[in-house]
This record gives sequence, structure tokens and C-alpha cells, in this order.
Amino acid sequence: MSSEINVTYRIARALPAAQQATWRTLLAEFTAEVPSPEKVEVIITDEYEKVAGEYAVQEPDRMNSTMTADQYRADRADGARAAAKTCALADGRIVVVVGSSTLACGLPTARQCVLHEAQHVRLQQHGDVAHAVHRRAPFELPSGFTWEYVWFAENTIDEFRCERTVHERGWTSRSNLNTAVDFALVADVLQKVRAKHHRTGDLMDTYHGAMPALLRASTVLGYGAAGLVTGVIRPGDWIQAPAMGRFLDLLEGLPGTDRVLPREDIAAASLEVAKRLRQLFNEMGFDYRETPDGFWLSVA
Ligand SMILES: [Zn+2]
Repeated sequence: MSSEINVTYRIARALPAAQQATWRTLLAEFTAEVPSPEKVEVIITDEYEKVAGEYAVQEPDRMNSTMTADQYRADRADGARAAAKTCALADGRIVVVVGSSTLACGLPTARQCVLHEAQHVRLQQHGDVAHAVHRRAPFELPSGFTWEYVWFAENTIDEFRCERTVHERGWTSRSNLNTAVDFALVADVLQKVRAKHHRTGDLMDTYHGAMPALLRASTVLGYGAAGLVTGVIRPGDWIQAPAMGRFLDLLEGLPGTDRVLPREDIAAASLEVAKRLRQLFNEMGFDYRETPDGFWLSVA
């Protein structure tokens, strides 16, 4: 059995020697985190969006099963930009796509990014990843609920656990912390979607504007809660967003990636986080639910 990950560079021009050396260091740290490195491929690329899209569509468990490779976007609803993505493919293969420009953000940020993805791999290989756990554990969607809330809640839990470990191991990059300032940016996107809805009344447009923002909120809450429980973020940095308290109550009991949790526990936690995401969405003026006649979206 090999104890090496597979590494591929998909870049137009060879990296300078110093950058190659930095990647070798980071990849060695990444490998040390991963239970079964021989099933992992890391692709470092200067075409992050294109390559991440290629692999995103190969994931058997994905929320948007009709998405095509060229529809993947690194830009998030609030203007943040993804730099890496872990894709769990069939047969237990995992591909981690990392933008080569990540190094330009400085070594601490690149290290946090790469070792955060290593934690996603750990969750996958330990079998207690929250993503799509509703397909692997007994799960009943409460009446009126929609699956979006569940997928987003699973995202919150995975991001929380990965970031929790990142901070516990001392890999914190100060420039990568999420506070109430980041939450306010997402809330602002939702308010703009709301205002536009009142002008146009276009429900499809409203759905496609609001859902990425709620997904982004689910990530910011997971990252923020991980910073709060580990003490790298001060409680005062979230005081402007009181909604965090409800998420923190649920998340703080979840460990990082070192302890393996029963799937049933992850599924139960996902449902509770999903309920709070729905409550948050309601407070932001959106009511999205399933009714006997189909899906219902209204905007206050
Ligand atoms: Zn993540």
C-alpha cells in the first residue's frame, strides 16, 4: 500500500522553484492528515473554476444534479471566492482541487486552506461526513420542509468540524476568519434579493438569488462558530449577529475531525441546524416550503 497522495499540476507555465518547494511542504502536511492517502488526488491548477467544475459534476452526492461542469463558479453570493474544493467521487476516490494562486495569499492562508481541505478528506474517509448524510442514515424530512435546508445544514456542520480542527491544531490564518461583518455581507445580499423581488415579482429569479446567499450564510455560520468555540474569534466579534447564538448552541457539541461520530447523530444534528437555517431565512423575509401543491416561496 502506498502512503503517498497523487499530485497533478494542471498549469500553463511551470511554477518557480520556490513555489514548487512550498507546495511540496504543504502537500506533505496534507498527506499526514489523511487516513488513506493512496485514494486521494490533489490537483493544483491555474484554472481552478474549470477543473473544480469537472470534478464537481462527478460527485454522486450533490444537491444540484443537473449542474454542468461549466456552471461551477468560484464566486460566492457575497463576493467571496472559493480557492479549493474536495470532491468525493465513486469508489471512494477523492479529488481535491486547489487554485495555484492560493499561495499568493501568503503561506498561513494557503496552509489553512490546504489543511482545511485535508479535514474534509478525513471526514469522507472516516465515513462521518455530514454532506448527504440524509441519504446514508434514516432521515425523515419534516412536513413542509425542503431539502435545500438539509443540504445547507450539512454544509454548516462539515465546515464547522473542519475549521474547528484547523484552529485546534494552530493553523489559524487571521485573514480567513468569519465574523458578524461577513454575516452582514450575506444578509445584505438577501435584502437586495428581497428588494428586487418587490420590484419584479420574479419568483424564479428570487429563488436563484436567495438560495446561494443562504448557502453562503450556512458556511459563514459554520466557520464563525468554529472560531468562537476555539477562542480564535472573540464573542464580541459576533455580537452584531445574534442569530449565531442559536447555531453555536447546536454546533459547539460537535467535535472536530479527530472523533468519529455515528451517522445517526450527524443526521440528527443536520436536521436541527436545518430548522435554524429555515428560521433565519424566515427572519430575513423569505418563506420557502413544500406544500401539497408543490413548492411555495413568498417574500415579506
Ligand atoms: Zn470546507
